[in-house]
Amino acid sequence: MVETCPTVDMLEEYSFERLAPKATEDLEEHLLICQSCQNRLKSIDEYIGVMKAATRKLEQEKKKKSLRRVSGEFVTGLRRTGPMPSAKA
Ligand SMILES: [Zn+2]
Repeated sequence: MVETCPTVDMLEEYSFERLAPKATEDLEEHLLICQSCQNRLKSIDEYIGVMKAATRKLEQEKKKKSLRRVSGEFVTGLRRTGPMPSAKA
């Protein structure tokens, strides 16, 4: 049985969970027996982890901005429909 190491591209796809189930299975089987691929995957995982964290941060920033816009509209709506509770006194 000849084992060939997967390409870096394949390891990246695996890290992104984009590989087909069969390919994932084959790759995982190979990883079990191949220390050098485990090491390669580890370093790929690290930089993909950084990339994913950066993407997540960007998405959170976007969400925060849209939330702020929505609550701004809400406050404006309140002012339009009636006096603030503090105006009672
Ligand atoms: Zn290998």
